[in-house]
Amino acid sequence: MKNLIRRRTAHRRVRPDLVVPVLDPRQRCAEGSVAERNDLVRKPLFLEGADEPLLHGDAAMSPDCAEPGADVVVVAPFEVLLAELAAETDLRQERGRLLSQNKGFKHIAGVTWLVPSQTQPSGGYIVNTAEKTCSCPDYELRRCKCKHAWAVEFVQTSESHADGSKTVTESMTYSRTTHQQDWPAYNEAQVSEKETVQTLLRGLCDGVETPAHAGRGPKPIPLSDVVFAMAMKCYTLMSARRASTDIKNAAETGNMTRAPHYNSILAAFEKTEMTAILTKLIERSAAPLAGIDTSFAVDSTGFGTCVYRRWYDAKYGKEMKKATWLKAHAIVGTTTNIIASVKVTDSDGADSPQLPGLVEAAKQNFEMGEVSADKAYLGHDNLAAIDTAGASAFIPFKLNSQADGSPAWRKMHAVFMFKQEEFLAAYMKRNNVESTFSSVKRKFGGSVRSKVFTAQVNEILCKVLCYNLSMLVHAMHKLGIEPSFLGQVAA
Ligand SMILES: [Zn+2]
Repeated sequence: MKNLIRRRTAHRRVRPDLVVPVLDPRQRCAEGSVAERNDLVRKPLFLEGADEPLLHGDAAMSPDCAEPGADVVVVAPFEVLLAELAAETDLRQERGRLLSQNKGFKHIAGVTWLVPSQTQPSGGYIVNTAEKTCSCPDYELRRCKCKHAWAVEFVQTSESHADGSKTVTESMTYSRTTHQQDWPAYNEAQVSEKETVQTLLRGLCDGVETPAHAGRGPKPIPLSDVVFAMAMKCYTLMSARRASTDIKNAAETGNMTRAPHYNSILAAFEKTEMTAILTKLIERSAAPLAGIDTSFAVDSTGFGTCVYRRWYDAKYGKEMKKATWLKAHAIVGTTTNIIASVKVTDSDGADSPQLPGLVEAAKQNFEMGEVSADKAYLGHDNLAAIDTAGASAFIPFKLNSQADGSPAWRKMHAVFMFKQEEFLAAYMKRNNVESTFSSVKRKFGGSVRSKVFTAQVNEILCKVLCYNLSMLVHAMHKLGIEPSFLGQVAA
């Protein structure tokens, strides 16, 4: 917030005695500083050029202290925030007390506890009672005691004996929460999934152009059929040889003109040009959900391989080995959990530089409202990319982040600092990306069979494509959408 304060142009109607020194963000939670500054007059806070105040002042405040749209920020917004934080601490304690009455608390070991999430039926947060930390976004953001830490404290009720010894009674209740499922739609989608996935895949593959065949020799199998066979191979979770029966069946039911031999399929996986085609097909497979998803989350996940990296370690005097793995960077629609775009790199591929490309790809098909990502993605380029896509960014700032920067940076910093509830609500949607990755791996495997890097990349892309198609089948039954794929994908 330093920036806003420093840039404050003395408004002619602001009384100079109302200007107070700015507190360091790290001092936000320090007690005492709150009480001392509590009596400050509360004023609305305007961002440059904004018509609406970012923070509303007291109703009783004289309206001529600041004019809407004026290039002025009135009176130490941090102090307002401090007062609010002080009030919120009691609120968190109360929420923790209520939460402690729920079931699902699990004592993991020593000082770590698993506290069930109230919003995510299958989620939870890890609380460390010794370090007083929690894995929830609220703690990540504020670095102050959250409701989960309070709840654990309430669950651990300690009893003191006369001899000075202490019995700690910990309620160890295990339970499962289930969420409402539309069973008829779910059953129907599951039963017809394989058949519908093939129909959808055929529709998608129809857009794949076969390059002109120059020269003599037999005419090769159309590229669209090869792509179809590659995706089918991954859908069956079998090796290329064992998937042959399914691929032949697909040719017999008219989904392919000719079933490629398993060696042709394996050779196709090793072709670099397949990567672009598969990426395009994934993006196109997400497009039918364009009207539904407006908020997105970006993250990455690892896929294992059976390839080992070997080296001689002089320190241990022997050969060492370590399995290699690949990273899939994806942008996921948080309403339907569809993967709007994906990029596969080796395990050394950094996360943050992938964001602009993913946002740009998703923008082609979707109307983007929000993009959330974790701290690793914080950067000026990423915020600018999200802003260009017309979306609001929800990426937590680091403790030492400055308020100075581009307009997109300053806007997000202001929301992060002053509209924490709103920020958290949007940031929480990021959890969906985790469940999406786990779903891809559960359905189509968390490791690849291929040995060559390009083939491994293409295999992961096929898994993502199969996942998207299966999600489309569910959307068809649940939401009643009817996807149709048009347009050509050039080879
Ligand atoms: Zn927490």
